[in-house]
Amino acid sequence: MATLWDEREPRAALAEIARHFHARGWMAGTAGNLSVRNTEGTSFWITASGYPKGQLTPDDFVKVAVADGQVVETCKPHDRPSAETSIHQVIYRHDPTARAALHVHSIAAVLAVERHAPTNATALALPALEMIKGMGIWDEAPHVALPLFENWRDVPAIAREIERLFDPTTPTLSALMIRRHGITVWGTSLQQAYDRIEIMEYILDYLSRTSPTT
Ligand SMILES: [Zn+2]
Repeated sequence: MATLWDEREPRAALAEIARHFHARGWMAGTAGNLSVRNTEGTSFWITASGYPKGQLTPDDFVKVAVADGQVVETCKPHDRPSAETSIHQVIYRHDPTARAALHVHSIAAVLAVERHAPTNATALALPALEMIKGMGIWDEAPHVALPLFENWRDVPAIAREIERLFDPTTPTLSALMIRRHGITVWGTSLQQAYDRIEIMEYILDYLSRTSPTT
């Protein structure tokens, strides 16, 4: 039987997942960030800033408190958490069921939004592909939209805008997109987040290859 990601030591699992995503072109150079929350729900391990994602080791992570974003543990003294930690923090703070959040920079996601979403659109309608079931949506003709956010240089400003997603309830689709940047997907387990980011990338890859009229 396959070993699920959640059965592995969290940092070792994330380091291997980063290699998978790097090999697929979703984490070029040092791009992207991955996190897993502890069982108590109070903190999460996240990729440290500045390390190449194709070569991560279990020591290249920093533990951050969900409540205030403060670093609570490092493997190496001078490591800092990912510059996009505040986005993970918002997800964990507002969705108590979220155990893992994965964020990648893929070409397909950027192109899909550029091709199919008007400049000021706040969401991208997703096609009713079979694969949407993999996101936990089983409607016969689903109307699902991927929330879109502007890519401000001030990452906490993006995080503040993302907070609106969770007001008043957790969204149906556990994914969001920052324009010209990439998607973030979360799940109730690391395995679910991993499976769902593959599903979202499949759907966005499909969209990036279709014209807006099809
Ligand atoms: Zn990013």
